[in-house]
Amino acid sequence: MLISFNKPPFTGNEEKYILESIKSSKISGEGEFTLKCHKWFEEKLQCKKAFLTPSCTHALEMAAILLDIKEGDEVIIPSYTFVSTANAFVLRGAKIVFVDIRPDTMNIDEAKIEEAITSKTKVIVPVHYAGVACAMDTIMDIAKKYNLFVVEDAAQGMMSSYKGKALGTIGHLGAFSFHETKNYTSAGEGGLLIINDKNFIQRAEIIREKGTNRSQFFRGMVDKYSWVDLGSSYLMNDVSAAYLWGNLEKANEINQNRLNSWQKYYDGLKELENRGFIELPKIPDGCVQNAHMFYIKVKDLEERSVLLEYLKGNDIYAVFHYVPLHSAEAGLKFSRFSGKDIYTTKESERLIRLPMYYGLENKDIKHIVDVIYKFFGA
Ligand SMILES: *Cc1c(COP(=O)(O)O)cnc(C)c1O
Repeated sequence: MLISFNKPPFTGNEEKYILESIKSSKISGEGEFTLKCHKWFEEKLQCKKAFLTPSCTHALEMAAILLDIKEGDEVIIPSYTFVSTANAFVLRGAKIVFVDIRPDTMNIDEAKIEEAITSKTKVIVPVHYAGVACAMDTIMDIAKKYNLFVVEDAAQGMMSSYKGKALGTIGHLGAFSFHETKNYTSAGEGGLLIINDKNFIQRAEIIREKGTNRSQFFRGMVDKYSWVDLGSSYLMNDVSAAYLWGNLEKANEINQNRLNSWQKYYDGLKELENRGFIELPKIPDGCVQNAHMFYIKVKDLEERSVLLEYLKGNDIYAVFHYVPLHSAEAGLKFSRFSGKDIYTTKESERLIRLPMYYGLENKDIKHIVDVIYKFFGA
């Protein structure tokens, strides 16, 4: 009996909606299901505008274009993140300035952002790791004080909130992922750009339509459409949106199911934490999380390698991720680390993600927990 690390969320209606989309004969961007999803996000998350994109990577690229990032601009991000958080801005010529993380949440340490700011700084990109919010009050205060933009990388944060506000809706822009490893998926690959500052809406419509004013044309606002700005193809096809709609209409059920699994792990492993063998995730006050992942931290890199092998030997597929970007080959070229790397490397080497997906069975969680106790001889 093999326990996989991830299974793409599938609730049952996705096939039906995909067929409906195909039969509608409008399967490119801005079809029926795309518009349904946009409306769902705008109401559910309470944002000014939502645009589905082919991936979160594309949503971040759109954000970098919208903010007019140019050669020499600096962008502050944590080094403990996925490459796209950095690449989207590097593509526009920006220099990445990494800031250390907090060991409790693995999120950017808000207390170390201010010292990383220079006259070239343009944007702060907080990454809500594991769907647990960064300290957004402090980050927004700093952004205001220095006149910076904030783009939330909320790739993992759908259905999470910070002091009552949905993640992705607090900064100027927010980006989400619907990759098959995330809590909701649009048939494998997909993303979303959220616009909270309404001054960006009109230009976003143009950028995603290859730099044309096609959207205004379809609304009858101009009598022909033409090339008016920079742009690319940042639309999700409607068949993918149809799959996503199947996930979204069961969003609460998926969320609750994952939270139940998360709690089962937490309760099961608490005793091991109490006895000093491992550390469990911390959820700060004011953060409502979405159980995107369940991770544990062990002593060090060596113990992690042995435990991962041990789990694999028991047919349990656990993983680690994110080799810090500042120590990667491209990181050396495009970035600098502000201050000292106290926690980024050390904490990233201790972390293991346990299997987590919609529909993970309680008996499997119990088995995983038992195997971990056995590993520690506890
Ligand atoms: C998954 C992820 C991305 C990239 O998402 P894609 O949809 O695969 O492009 C970016 N940032 C973070 C933090 C992620 O977890």
